[in-house]
Amino acid sequence: MSKNLLELIFKPKLHSMAAITSSLLRNYAGSASVRAFAFANVRVPPPRTFFNYNPVSFLLPFHSRRSFSRIGVTNDEEALAKAAAVNADSEAPTIFDKIIAKEIPSSIVYEDEKVLAFRDVNPQAPVHVLVIPKFRDGLTMLGKAEERHTEILGYLLYAAKIVAEKEGILDGFRVVINNGPGGCQSVYHLHLHVLGGRQMTWPAG
Ligand code: AMP
Repeated sequence: MSKNLLELIFKPKLHSMAAITSSLLRNYAGSASVRAFAFANVRVPPPRTFFNYNPVSFLLPFHSRRSFSRIGVTNDEEALAKAAAVNADSEAPTIFDKIIAKEIPSSIVYEDEKVLAFRDVNPQAPVHVLVIPKFRDGLTMLGKAEERHTEILGYLLYAAKIVAEKEGILDGFRVVINNGPGGCQSVYHLHLHVLGGRQMTWPAG
């Protein structure tokens, strides 16, 4: 096979891996997990067996696995959201509780006694930060909000503005809350997505 043909076949894969690796490096700078991601994300993965299963994904709860296998394996956001919805009414801890407890690493952008803001592991824009209440208090999703939550709900929006300011995107950013399986929510701990650093389009998908 000629060198040019080889380049044609392999270059796109290399570009895709480089993009993913740099985005993950941003989230997990210094983390050993980065090394695992570099080889785990390929465009056309081999059939999954015990031996080639993504080692990071393997250790994670189901609802967060898509973050580490977005490129290459079946990427059915709706199906994942539906699967995660079994936790919608449950008080079971989520991966965000582990992030709050610093049991798993995250790239923290802002933190105070009420909220934590950290970079999304699977960014959809140059800036993609999640803002969550530290005390969930029944707020698995916005649809569970009650009057007693108004203070924290307002504070989360204010924290989103602080994040936008810190990230230098105050002149143009978007705040998203996915609610329930129909809204493609995959983690049942209320969170605001703060997105920016590129031109946003409308309508959102
Ligand atoms: P949603 O689909 O609206 O429930 O958003 C959940 C978000 O959490 C997704 O954008 C995921 O990429 C993100 N996410 C899942 N696990 C992690 C993690 N360990 N660190 C950072 N972000 C995560």
